[in-house]
Amino acid sequence: MNDFEKQLATTSQDGLYSLEIQTLQVNLGLRCNQQCRHCHLEASPDRTERMEWDTMALVLEAAGSMRSPLIDLTGGAPEVNPHFRRFVKSLRQAGHPVQVRTNLTVLLEPGMEEMPQFYRDQEVQLVASLPCYLEENVCMQRGEGVYGKSIAAIRRLNALGYGVHADLPLLLVYNPGGPFLPPDQSSLETDYRKQLAERFDLFFTRLLTIANMPIGRFLAVLRRQEQEKNYLELLRESFNPQTLDGLMCRHQISIAWDGTLYDCDFNYALSLPVNHGAPDHIRHFNPANLLVRRIVTGDHCFGCTAGAGSSCGGALL
Ligand code: SF4
Ligand code: SF4
Repeated sequence: MNDFEKQLATTSQDGLYSLEIQTLQVNLGLRCNQQCRHCHLEASPDRTERMEWDTMALVLEAAGSMRSPLIDLTGGAPEVNPHFRRFVKSLRQAGHPVQVRTNLTVLLEPGMEEMPQFYRDQEVQLVASLPCYLEENVCMQRGEGVYGKSIAAIRRLNALGYGVHADLPLLLVYNPGGPFLPPDQSSLETDYRKQLAERFDLFFTRLLTIANMPIGRFLAVLRRQEQEKNYLELLRESFNPQTLDGLMCRHQISIAWDGTLYDCDFNYALSLPVNHGAPDHIRHFNPANLLVRRIVTGDHCFGCTAGAGSSCGGALL
């Protein structure tokens, strides 16, 4: 039994089990125009892994076997997958709500000029990374020039109504700039709203705060700074049992670019597929079996249960 499951046992829980499948999170590949220092998937412009159309067709079939799950597209930068637009259109034609996790700067890359309008035409919901409202902090995590491009991209999205009209949501994502937990989500949202409006006349719908997981590039940074032990202790000491019901792995399935099924994107980063007898590839997708699956956990799970909790949908409490 790992330490996380030992901690669960103190709350009388014998492991973690799925509660429902509301969302299919689909990773379209690891190529990204950025190379952020906190990226748990270690995406970069040099990565070549990507989902091919045959696998996308299986995802469409799987989604069709469920009651309109939210399809949450991620990457890398999902937009750089050559089948991206066809896939989004097919999902929308089949009636599925679609959400895209965009890094914003990709929208300024050559060939992406029409992407914001495409999003609006397809009624796609957007979740966009902006880990701070200050330039220095964004560039430190995500690279030189990223802040200015992100502001320019939000301006284009606002001009189309994203973050302005209720039916065109633009959610921004904050994550800490170092080995500490996110601050209170609603207070930080107020700060973001004020800063972005006053300085740039920009708008967004909601802010999501997400903790840094001690895996991937962020773990490498922790090790270089000799902070790994302290950060893991902070996560363990901040364990909050009230977060357990909302853990994203209990409400969704993650599908990797090669069709392998995971309980969450972090397990994907750690190569820990769905286990305990549940089908582990999109070819064998079976919602009934996946719904009763036991989730694969590890010590990294303390990153989701610390403080107010953390998930792809922000704080859990
Ligand atoms: S964190 Fe997002 S934007 Fe940054 S390298 Fe990873 S996938 Fe790309
Ligand atoms: S990392 Fe978080 S979402 Fe993933 S299995 Fe662990 S608790 Fe669940």
